[in-house]
Amino acid sequence: MKSLSQAAEQVVRCNKCGFCQEVCPTYKVTGQEFAVARGRNRLMRLVVDGRLTLEGDPELKEYLYTCLLCGACTVVCPPGVPTDRLVAAARADLTRGRGLPFLYRTALHGVLRSPRRLAVPIMLLRLYQNSGLRWVARHTGLLNLLGTLGQVEGILPGIPPSSLRARLAARAGGARGAAPRKRVAYFLGCVTDNLFPPVGEAVIGVLERNGYQVVVPENLCCGVAHRAYGDVAAAEELARQNLAVLAGTGAELVVTDCATCAHTLREYGDLLADDPHHAAAAAELSGKVREVSQLLVEEGFADPRGAVEETVTYHDPCHLGRGMGVRAQPRQILRSIPGLEFRELPEADWCCGGAGSYNVTHHELSVRILERKMENFRQTGARLLATSCPSCLLQLGFGLRRGELAARAGVGVPVAQSGARVVHPVQLLWQSYRNGG
Ligand code: SF4
Ligand code: SF4
Repeated sequence: MKSLSQAAEQVVRCNKCGFCQEVCPTYKVTGQEFAVARGRNRLMRLVVDGRLTLEGDPELKEYLYTCLLCGACTVVCPPGVPTDRLVAAARADLTRGRGLPFLYRTALHGVLRSPRRLAVPIMLLRLYQNSGLRWVARHTGLLNLLGTLGQVEGILPGIPPSSLRARLAARAGGARGAAPRKRVAYFLGCVTDNLFPPVGEAVIGVLERNGYQVVVPENLCCGVAHRAYGDVAAAEELARQNLAVLAGTGAELVVTDCATCAHTLREYGDLLADDPHHAAAAAELSGKVREVSQLLVEEGFADPRGAVEETVTYHDPCHLGRGMGVRAQPRQILRSIPGLEFRELPEADWCCGGAGSYNVTHHELSVRILERKMENFRQTGARLLATSCPSCLLQLGFGLRRGELAARAGVGVPVAQSGARVVHPVQLLWQSYRNGG
């Protein structure tokens, strides 16, 4: 679904029942009718009927862009209106009509097109954090002058000294294992690579411990941000390039620790369905993609024997839980670890508000959505907040730091128990393997 005009019959299926009000995060925090699936469908219907134009109404655009594309409404919708996909199609029409704003074009075309280009702003941010500039910016009020940029500065965790790709380049040997169970390609996403290298190291360690031969191809961004902002042509180009890179690995399966990358790769079949040269390969790839916990549970994994004495709860990333139906697998892994006490999180599938770059473009709304997640986490009393998506790790980690700051300043109820941290389930499995010797 790449254009609203192709989906007119879907838009008119909304029967205005309002069931979506109960689950839509943007409606829950704003109470605005046009910030819920019903309202968004009403606006899109006016566009389909020719009574509104997408380009002509800034308010309409804003309601389309405040949608998290979380898909929560689609689960409760009696006629099954795919509002998230319709909104994405409307955004694609908008981008085709007027192009992307300068900043978005720079970010999506200039920075997010390759790991090498992304390395430049990451290096500058590392310099900013480590040179004392951050201290100056935070203590002199400079951040207040930067408006939204200043507000979102706190989202970033400490940037590690090197990316996972750089660490792997220094590691000898590449793929290992004399008689591998299977050869798998580890699709390394931008966020894990640059912000959470230990997650990627745990994935490789766990896969190798379970007999897989792991290759780490030079893949590009999966293209999710390009799709979310309606730049379908750029998303298709990235998909074609990733197809070529992954085909070159000779791997039987493609594995990733990122819910969003997994979901996006699985949609390559739909994305390239009209491309006669790539449609078949894209459809084949879609069937080969596994999120790492999905793979381990599907094919079996070695019993973790080492104790990890902790309490943990689990947040369902939208792309994994609703998008791929993978909910039980990460919980199964967590429950299998000796010493680890699992506590269910209330509203575990409530979006964290990260939604790619939503926490930058709609910072205040994103924080209000995040606050409900953090309150639910606090209620579990668990110290570890696990999730299978690096973008969610980023947002939830921000929620914890934000809460710590507020607690130190004596503002409101602490959002978490002391020593709380975010973690990928595979990191705990890897820790258990290592503790078990
Ligand atoms: S639940 Fe579905 S049919 Fe009902 S108002 Fe919402 S989008 Fe429309
Ligand atoms: S996709 Fe999410 S934010 Fe968008 S309308 Fe549906 S529930 Fe609301």
